[in-house]
Amino acid sequence: MSFPEPPPSLPPPRPSRLLTQNREMRAIGVWNWSLPAWAGRLPDGRTYNTCPSAGICRQVCYARHGSYTWPVVRGKHQANLQFVLDDLPGWRKALVAELGAQKFRGTWVRIHDSGDFFSDAYLSAWLQVIRARPETNFYAYTKEVRRFRTLVEPDAPPNFLWVYSFGGIQDSALDVAVDRVADVFPDEEAIAAAGWHSQEASDLLAVLGPHLVGIPANRIPHFLKLLSGRTFRSWQAEVDAERLTVRRRGRGLQPTAGPAPGAPDSPGSTQRNRAA
Ligand code: SF4
Repeated sequence: MSFPEPPPSLPPPRPSRLLTQNREMRAIGVWNWSLPAWAGRLPDGRTYNTCPSAGICRQVCYARHGSYTWPVVRGKHQANLQFVLDDLPGWRKALVAELGAQKFRGTWVRIHDSGDFFSDAYLSAWLQVIRARPETNFYAYTKEVRRFRTLVEPDAPPNFLWVYSFGGIQDSALDVAVDRVADVFPDEEAIAAAGWHSQEASDLLAVLGPHLVGIPANRIPHFLKLLSGRTFRSWQAEVDAERLTVRRRGRGLQPTAGPAPGAPDSPGSTQRNRAA
């Protein structure tokens, strides 16, 4: 008995629209591009990590909670990622074509409601999109500090602004004196007490307001419990210091009492041009 040949496997359907708007973003006229947050597995079995520089943030990631986990939303974000992974030039071309519509002129696109610039090739493709559409403004939060220092900062497109966000494994490369930075605080009062500036009124303040950007933590009880009154920056610094101590002990060295990673005078700090 013979069986018919199985049909050749078809590539997954490409998303018909790449940019979306949720209610909050529509209110301020911003469009969104999203990837699935952090690590996971695509329907075809491939594993991914879209936030390779995530640190403590992944434990309290807003995009791994609530509506982001609904199958239809997760499926859309995974389809976006599959398009990027399978056909980066085709994705770039499709995005530039979509951005040619009149409705995108003079508006803003937030790159990554969730996810990050996970590779040099992907960030470079974005830079080509941004340069191809100078009439649209783009912004992003990112924890990919070294990638931006190398690929973006030396020759940034004028229509692209970004803010480095604390809570990642590259926090110690940030300098709050010169970098535009965002940190998550327990609440608005803590932001004000630290002398930082809340972006709660409009997400665009993250790149258009003062350069120390405060974000109030999501009111999700178990996230607030984990945060335990700290900021992302101070929590990540604690974790980095603990790791350093363990590493030094492993090498038979005494723990040091130097500045916490991420502190302005820590060894990883460098003078940089402000991002925006
Ligand atoms: S970088 Fe952002 S999206 Fe990624 S795990 Fe951290 S909080 Fe979530």
